[in-house]
Amino acid sequence: MSIFDHRLSLAHLVAWLVLFRLVPQKNEYRKMTATSIKLIVAAALALPYGGFAADTQVEPERASKLLGAQNHQFERKIIQVSENVYTAVGFHGANTSMIVGDDGIIIVDTLRGPFSAAMALKAFRKYSIKPVKAILYTHSHGDHIGGASAFVGEEKPEIYATEGFGSAEGVNKAVNPVKGLRNIRQFGRDLPVGQRTNRGVAPANTHDKDGGKGYVPPTIRISEDGYRETIAGVDLEFYLAPGETDDAMFIWLPDEKVLFAGDNFYHAFPNLYAIRGTAYRDVLNWSESVGRMAEFKPHHVVPGHTMPISGQEAATASLKDYSEAIGSIYDQTIDGINQGKSPDQLAHEVGLPEHLKDRPYLVEFYGTVPHAVRAIYAGLLGWFDGNPTTLNPMEPRLKAQKVAKLAGGTEMLTKQMDAALEEEDYQWALELSDHLKWLEDGDLKRARKVKIEALRGLAAREYNAPNRNYYLSYANELESGTLSEVWF
Ligand SMILES: [Zn+2]
Repeated sequence: MSIFDHRLSLAHLVAWLVLFRLVPQKNEYRKMTATSIKLIVAAALALPYGGFAADTQVEPERASKLLGAQNHQFERKIIQVSENVYTAVGFHGANTSMIVGDDGIIIVDTLRGPFSAAMALKAFRKYSIKPVKAILYTHSHGDHIGGASAFVGEEKPEIYATEGFGSAEGVNKAVNPVKGLRNIRQFGRDLPVGQRTNRGVAPANTHDKDGGKGYVPPTIRISEDGYRETIAGVDLEFYLAPGETDDAMFIWLPDEKVLFAGDNFYHAFPNLYAIRGTAYRDVLNWSESVGRMAEFKPHHVVPGHTMPISGQEAATASLKDYSEAIGSIYDQTIDGINQGKSPDQLAHEVGLPEHLKDRPYLVEFYGTVPHAVRAIYAGLLGWFDGNPTTLNPMEPRLKAQKVAKLAGGTEMLTKQMDAALEEEDYQWALELSDHLKWLEDGDLKRARKVKIEALRGLAAREYNAPNRNYYLSYANELESGTLSEVWF
């Protein structure tokens, strides 16, 4: 069985399109019960894992249609979530929300910069012209805090965040040059319009020039005991919730049973590891934080990105499932580690539990299971996989020479590389081209060309947005000659 034909049939795809097209745009999920979501998505996704755990490669047409369907998760609009809660989706990468109180409004997250934030505020103003009394930051990622100045009016609102706020990333700036480059690739920031799809949980095109310019520091810090306050007549509860970042919190609105989840929940498998490069995200904490959210049995969940989910059954089940999925990936990885298995092996073995494979909010549009497994391994044990063979692996040039010898010489190795590309065995073509790169008698130009084509071949079949963006960006960089020889 080819790796491209086992997952999604045309009928499944049609069901996906029905899910995203025929349901009215406003309050999509309010009208859907958990059961109906489950039924539709069960029809949309068939995920037999077989030997291809967490494989996000499908036929090219299917990959682009799936990503096209995911775009409906961040079309620009205001959603009225409950009587007094409005969420602005698609004004930038993340969401911003407005809670309307007696004599003022409360803003949850502020987008990346003042330009997008001002647009969202203008759209909110159709529903309330009351002054902004408070701003709440769910966590310190730039796409949630950089637009605050647009919401700060005459009243100088208090700004709430956790005690550890700011500890998420960027503390060690030593590797920022390479993280910046990898960030551009992960999000496809430099891709030409024709190659753009989305960023998994965010649209491809965002206004980023003023990123961070509107950041206003917090004035009130929430400790690990949590916090309750009535602001503008609205009862609010704050709970620490380490997950995507250690400095995350969720906010609970008891009267309307709305839960603001920040980035610990969104409509895609969680990015337990970001390929742009981040410190270890504590996966177990993440699972527990989402589990705690589920205990509130919310009627509405407002994620940090993508559409809110409404209906007590659907909202609560989504959090339960999410927590369980993260916990299961963690447990399976730990079991495997303790059996002595390597990250390479585990990345191909661990998968979502059978009963969660059909959940629309667990499709690997953003994070992937194999990346999560590797992150857990490295996060808990570091880079060494326990096998003494890998304690001091060969220097790449020497290994390439030995591989060439094994293949019957450099020419034979080149032939094998070409054949792999021809047979659309793209990963193998990449690996052989990387060996060829080191060989003095190797045709570097040819190896580079094969690498570019193989990356584009993988990208076309990829529905995980960061993978796809990375493959395409890297291929373009190689082609344009902007990459140094280090990168090949
Ligand atoms: Zn975010």
